[in-house]
Amino acid sequence: MTDAQTTCTTCGTLIRQFTADRYQGLCVLCDRDAAAIPPDDFKLPSELLDRIKALGQDPDLFLEMTWCDGVPYTLGFLNKIEESQKLHDHWAPRLRAFAKQCRLDAPPPSPAVLAPRDLAKLPIYEASIRRSERITPSRRSEALFCSIPLIAIPVALRCWPGEDERTVVLTPDEWNKWQKIYKHPDDAFWWFSDVWWRIDDPPNPGAPGMDGKKLTLPEGETPWLVTAGLMMGPMSGGSTSELWSWNGTSARFVEEVSRIYA
Ligand SMILES: [Zn+2]
Repeated sequence: MTDAQTTCTTCGTLIRQFTADRYQGLCVLCDRDAAAIPPDDFKLPSELLDRIKALGQDPDLFLEMTWCDGVPYTLGFLNKIEESQKLHDHWAPRLRAFAKQCRLDAPPPSPAVLAPRDLAKLPIYEASIRRSERITPSRRSEALFCSIPLIAIPVALRCWPGEDERTVVLTPDEWNKWQKIYKHPDDAFWWFSDVWWRIDDPPNPGAPGMDGKKLTLPEGETPWLVTAGLMMGPMSGGSTSELWSWNGTSARFVEEVSRIYA
């Protein structure tokens, strides 16, 4: 016996007539997608709507969630947002005070006093920052962590991380110190995003994507590993690493070494 076949009216995949009859002409995947879209007359219950607005959220973003997963699920999600906002309200002022003290303790050096080797890194930082994806947090209370070595802090402040009033700029060492002051609860939503830039001179063989890779360059040239990364949550973000070469006078791009995104 051969099953009669037809095609899904949405995506055109070949499907059994039996499936089409069962799902109004759709394949199983398209039926699932269609089921996730609330009907036009679907409205959020008023107590949910009030809560969403009180948390400064966009009600439209919760229509699909509530339609698919129900009011209790959305309420649970809103509880997590509220928890994250409370963490932000408590910790963000402490973070800003910490960052302010860090800059008083260690102001970035003026480019005029930098050695040529460090001076050559500034345009690389600037190009990398300008190429990086900008994080525009959708959650009202979100902070943006920017971690970058001391010499490049003025560059970060001049580019987009500095234009965003939510940004807090720290050096990698200061960032590690902050991690000892603030322990983010494992199951809480992030109230911050992280962006970072580094030039490892020399590259650390254990850096992400290096996997013991040998960075071989012509005689007389030394490798720099230029890394840019961002994290918007525990499972969202990534980094790119590039090999650059320094010949004692100037730096040049050699190749991309790794690109990891989730
Ligand atoms: Zn389909």
